[in-house]
Amino acid sequence: MTLPSAETKMQFLFALRSRGVTDKRVLEAMEAIDRGKFVRGIFADRAYEDMPLPIACGQTISQPSVVGLMTQALQISPRDKVLEVGTGSGYQAAVLSRLARRVYTVDRHARLTRAAKAVFDELSLSNITPIVADGSFGLPEQAPFDRILVTAAAEDPPGPLLAQLKIDGIMVVPVGQSDAVQTLIKVRRTESGFEYDELRPVRFVPLLEGLGKDG
Ligand code: SAH
Repeated sequence: MTLPSAETKMQFLFALRSRGVTDKRVLEAMEAIDRGKFVRGIFADRAYEDMPLPIACGQTISQPSVVGLMTQALQISPRDKVLEVGTGSGYQAAVLSRLARRVYTVDRHARLTRAAKAVFDELSLSNITPIVADGSFGLPEQAPFDRILVTAAAEDPPGPLLAQLKIDGIMVVPVGQSDAVQTLIKVRRTESGFEYDELRPVRFVPLLEGLGKDG
C-alpha cells in the first residue's frame, strides 16, 4: 500500500468537513492516521473514499465521516481513558489513540484483534490495548471509563457499559435493530442518572453475544 497523494488526502479531509466533522483535533487525528493501513485486498485502493468497506469476518470498517462524527461527539480530553467496543479493522481505535491517554478496544473476533494489533504495532500506537472479549459486558477490570464508544448496533445501550461510565462520562452508541436504520445516541452520565441525545441516523453491524468462532 503506497501513501496517499497530497490531493487524495485533501479530498479525504474535505469530505469529512463537508459532512460536519469540524473539530480541529479530530481532523488532525484523522489526517495523521492512514486509513489505507486498515483496509486490505481488493478494496484497499478505496480507503480514502467516504464509504464503509468490507473487512474480514463479515464485518465492516466504518465510513470515515461517521468515525469523525462519533469521535467529535465524544469530546475527548488528552487525559481520558477510552473503551471502544468493536475493534474491527482498528481504524477507529487508532483515531481515538491520537486524542486520548489510553484506548482499550475489544472485539469478539480474535482474528480481527490480531490484525488490528499488527497495524497498531507497525504505526507505534503504543497507547492502545486490543483485547478479545464480548464487549457487551464492557471491560470490568479497567472500568470506569471517561468515554465509551460502541461501533456495533445494540437494541438498547448495554447496562454494563452504562455502569462502567464515570460521572460526567460520555458514551456514543448506535441503537436500533440491526436490519434497520439505527440512531446514534450520545449518553452523558450525571450525578443523578443519564441524559440521552439523539445525534443522527446510522447503519452498523449488530452487537452480537459471545465470542466469534474464528480462533
Ligand atoms: N470500529 C471498527 C468497525 C467496527 S465493525 C473499525 O474502525 O474498523 C463492528 C465490530 O464489532 C466487528 O468487528 C464485530 O466483530 C464487533 N462486535 C460485534 N459484537 C461485539 C461484541 N459483543 N463484543 C465485541 N465486539 C463485537
